[in-house]
Amino acid sequence: MRTPADMPTAWIDGAAHRGDGPSRTVCNPATGGPVAAVALAGSGDVQIAIASARAAQSEWGGAAPAERSEVMRAFADLLRTHSDELAAQEVAQTGRTIRLATEFDVPGSIDNVDFFAGVARNLDGKASAEYSGDHTSSIRREPVGVVGSIAPWNYPLQMAAWKVLPAIAAGCTVVLKPAEITPMTTLTMARLATEAGLPDGVFNVLVGTGADVGAVLAGHPGLDLVTFTGSTAVGRTVMAQAARNGTRVQLELGGKAPFVVFDDADLTAAIHGAVAGSLINAGQDCTAATRAIVAADLHDDFVAGVAELMEKLVVGDPTDPATDMGSLSSRAHRATVAGMVDRAVADGARLVTGGRVPEGPGAFYPPTLLADVSESAEVYRDEVFGPVLTVNSFTDDADAIRRANDTVYGLAASAWTRDVYRAQRAARQIRAGCVWINDHIPIVSEMPHGGVGASGFGKDMSTYSLDEYLAVKHVMSDITAIAQKPWHRTVFANP
Ligand code: NAD
Repeated sequence: MRTPADMPTAWIDGAAHRGDGPSRTVCNPATGGPVAAVALAGSGDVQIAIASARAAQSEWGGAAPAERSEVMRAFADLLRTHSDELAAQEVAQTGRTIRLATEFDVPGSIDNVDFFAGVARNLDGKASAEYSGDHTSSIRREPVGVVGSIAPWNYPLQMAAWKVLPAIAAGCTVVLKPAEITPMTTLTMARLATEAGLPDGVFNVLVGTGADVGAVLAGHPGLDLVTFTGSTAVGRTVMAQAARNGTRVQLELGGKAPFVVFDDADLTAAIHGAVAGSLINAGQDCTAATRAIVAADLHDDFVAGVAELMEKLVVGDPTDPATDMGSLSSRAHRATVAGMVDRAVADGARLVTGGRVPEGPGAFYPPTLLADVSESAEVYRDEVFGPVLTVNSFTDDADAIRRANDTVYGLAASAWTRDVYRAQRAARQIRAGCVWINDHIPIVSEMPHGGVGASGFGKDMSTYSLDEYLAVKHVMSDITAIAQKPWHRTVFANP
């Protein structure tokens, strides 16, 4: 186990910083054993970090886009050379599989850095022109300033990348709070950013609890923007905290993605897609397939196929490349997942496979399939955030879309069909920030991620995310040099 002395709990002003809060042990949820001991940051550290970000902002925001881009490219290179370290830390602190870390988390995060290094030099705006006839109008897109970011535990490295990269590409400076149970890769990222030449104070990290650091950060009057990724309930609290200062917010919240299988779908593809889409990261994915809504004709074959494939998955040691699914993030979270499944079964849902807490150490939970679930059941309506898929059938296309949209969430969805017209209709009618056709989960740095309804608002990734971090300024310059301008007549007709 690393000790407080060699494990910084905050990265402020380009250097490791020991937090002024209580001590905490970061545990490996797959073994229950300790990974690192950390002294958490406290509210005093929030002041120091925001002051550092504020002091760094005008110079970083004023740097030429090419300068910002160059530092970010060097940062991507350093992350590449530390890929193994990052993957090992991500596995140790989350219990995810080494395959997920090495094939998805680490390369995906590095690609994000590469992408935003390019974006830093590509800011769009409306063409300068004489829209009034008497003035030249031009647009400036300026960094909003200092950003406070709060991230969840499910994808620590990727969430840090999604929160920090567009901000620094835009010329903002950041104070980021990762979840206190998964701080390691975020701290490594901040250290490597400094090594890559990112000026001190541009990217600060505070490891602390939601109550001690998150709430103080979200409600701090020294911020220009609060960005949050996490649960809907906490996101709304964060919004209320920021609202006290009138600070703008961006919220990436929970999801309850429908997975709609029409009667002309490729059944094998849908079965494979449902297992992969519901079990990625042990189902702890905001876009995970959670509610399969299947044409009545295909329902029984779909249930049998998904159960058969789920039962083949190897669940166990996340460090073994042969393992398909690791553990959940903590035993406390596993108890929440298991409780929701148990209550669903007690209420009449059919447990097709899984659903039993295994013996032994760690926070493992098996792939679980529930059929015949009531549409009012908690497991059908609320986020489970575990390896649990429910299956229900529908009668016709209108019923399928009604069921897909029967949720307060609107983050992601998928539709499975060979009919191009049906696919287009579903893409249009399903209310979500992303609709996949004949797939579920893939993301790319070039395309936006973000939801509607209880899933929040605003975008991560892609150039759309810049809208969160850039303020639009209109500069309007008189080109007539006339002292008495024609429009003055509206104020004084005879001067
Ligand atoms: P959470 O809401 O419990 O915590 C998220 C972060 O908020 C943590 O850093 C936590 O310490 C902090 N926090 C807690 N209370 C706070 C408070 N009062 N004030 C300020 N900060 C506070 O979420 P979680 O359990 O860490 O993550 C899982 C959730 O995140 C799921 O709901 C999932 O859907 C969501 N998520 C959404 C996206 C997306 O892009 N939409 C991506 C990943 C995860």
